[in-house]
Amino acid sequence: MSRREELADGLAQVRGRIERACAEAGRDASEVTLVAVTKFFPASDVRLLADLGVTDVGENRHQEAEAKAAECADLDLRWHYIGGLQSNKAGAVARYAHVVESLDRTKLVGRLDRGAQERGRPVDVLLQVSLDPPGAEHRAGADPADLAALADAVVAAEHLRLRGLMAVAPLGEEPSAAFDRLAGVRSTFLDHHPSADVLSAGMSGDLEAAIAVGATHVRVGSAILGSRPLDR
Ligand SMILES: *Cc1c(COP(=O)(O)O)cnc(C)c1O
Repeated sequence: MSRREELADGLAQVRGRIERACAEAGRDASEVTLVAVTKFFPASDVRLLADLGVTDVGENRHQEAEAKAAECADLDLRWHYIGGLQSNKAGAVARYAHVVESLDRTKLVGRLDRGAQERGRPVDVLLQVSLDPPGAEHRAGADPADLAALADAVVAAEHLRLRGLMAVAPLGEEPSAAFDRLAGVRSTFLDHHPSADVLSAGMSGDLEAAIAVGATHVRVGSAILGSRPLDR
């Protein structure tokens, strides 16, 4: 099988899963955008995916993302930054990312805003919410209690557009239980920011559970591209 055939096969399977999950949830499959997570894979794969109809790609490492976005600058793709944001890199990320999905600290807002301003185009922002049970060792994401202040900071930033929320189901728990909490957090959030209705949740292993609670974006890597050597 050629690489193109492998990717076409992975994509067809994932698209089929999205369609079935939407049908089960009584949703239209057009409500869910597939973000192909290409971290660890070469720009040549991004190119093949674009040719196979992928419109959105996700990356989680700044240097890798920056290089790949530059190599693929001729393609009409939306780049989603989904990784941990370091404050000294936030401005640089805003120069190539169309969507920053992993904003979790107010401290980063000013830097992202300046990066977007330098680029001369607004950047879409999702707030990453932590779904860890209270007391768990902290992974990425803002505490739900801190979301309101973070959202206000983004709304006040001239070159950022608050579009919604992003989350990753924690390890060691049923994804559907974590996504149920996410749905509750989102419902409160939407009361205050009704137009910020993007919900990015669901990966290769749990996209069905995320679609069941209303995900509008799923971020899928290994189910399309194959397993990564190891997650750095
Ligand atoms: C790597 C990654 C994904 C994709 O994970 P898969 O299990 O390979 O689908 C999704 N979201 C984030 C934040 C990631 O870092």
